Amino acid sequence: MNTDISKNISSGVSKVKGYVPGEQPQTTDWVKLNTNEFPYPPSPKVREAIIEQLGADGAPLRLYPSPESAKLREAVAEYFGLGREYAFAANGSDDILNLAIRAFSDTSKSVAALQPSYSLYPVLAKIQDASFTQIPFNADMSIPYEKIFASSANIFFFTNPNAPTGIGFPEEAVRKIVEGSNAIVLVDEAYAPFSDWSAAGLVREYDNLIVTGTSSKGWGLAGMRIGWGVASPKIIEVLDRVRDSYNLDRLAQAAGVAALKDRAYYGRMRALVVEQRRLFEEFLDGMGWRYFKSSANFVLFEPANARGERGANVAESLFEFLKGMKILPRYFPNEKRIESYLRLTIGTAEQMAAVKDAARKWAQL
Ligand code: PMP
Repeated sequence: MNTDISKNISSGVSKVKGYVPGEQPQTTDWVKLNTNEFPYPPSPKVREAIIEQLGADGAPLRLYPSPESAKLREAVAEYFGLGREYAFAANGSDDILNLAIRAFSDTSKSVAALQPSYSLYPVLAKIQDASFTQIPFNADMSIPYEKIFASSANIFFFTNPNAPTGIGFPEEAVRKIVEGSNAIVLVDEAYAPFSDWSAAGLVREYDNLIVTGTSSKGWGLAGMRIGWGVASPKIIEVLDRVRDSYNLDRLAQAAGVAALKDRAYYGRMRALVVEQRRLFEEFLDGMGWRYFKSSANFVLFEPANARGERGANVAESLFEFLKGMKILPRYFPNEKRIESYLRLTIGTAEQMAAVKDAARKWAQL
């Protein structure tokens, strides 16, 4: 039966266009540097933990997992040196962003974030029928504190390090935002493993602070969907009301615990990423191309062609050239302030050599 269901759609969802994630080619022949995954496999202990969890015959999968992901929360708390009552786990950190929006916004409680930042936030807010305010960064990409304080947001998202610029902000910046605003402040630390600090410890001091993290970027587990957050027990209690009863499966819970415990492995592997980032920034200096100094596992840079021209067309030209060589960066044609830039995830030494080689060829065209 051909029924018009549009009038049945909730008012928020009827106005929303779904979030479009970066391209995910399903073949392995790409140098895939568009969605900031880790270039190395997860710790071998993760694989062992998953196999152990499966048992000889997979029978443990018959049973529901721990509803609150108890062991994973313990591992998260231990990782950040907090009591377990401060920890939360979810199906990717996107899940926590969504839960936070559901818990802390509605038609009269608005959401705000800086612009540019993660473009999922406005989509989640609209689904909830909450109004969303984009607060532009200052021209030099510094934080417009007064505008944040003046916004009437009930929940404010602060991506640190920022995506897509990669700029990292220090502890004073987070303290200033949290202390100066009446909002719930969610610090999205998806990329913090590549910077030199985390705001997680501050949740002991501020009841209105949530700090989220993910295994997708710094732990090589984007395929598992494991995210976490830390916040005051008051906030955790609210998030617990909203989440699915079993929001993380057994395998994900076991994998997350094993990953968080293997600090030595990840310390080594992240150091390789940070070194490749340094070398890539050196390469950009050599090319004379502008970029934002990155505290994340990607760099946002503005290519210039052989004639010294920059702009959206120039960025698109390099994007297409790299794609032709099966190298996939991220290009944001609809984001005015960064339309002349490309964002490239930092890969292995081999992948980065391929990128530099291709970029040099393009620059001579
Ligand atoms: N926050 C930011 C800033 C991100 O870039 C991403 C990944 N696109 C996420 C959160 C979500 O990561 P995940 O859901 O894989 O944990």
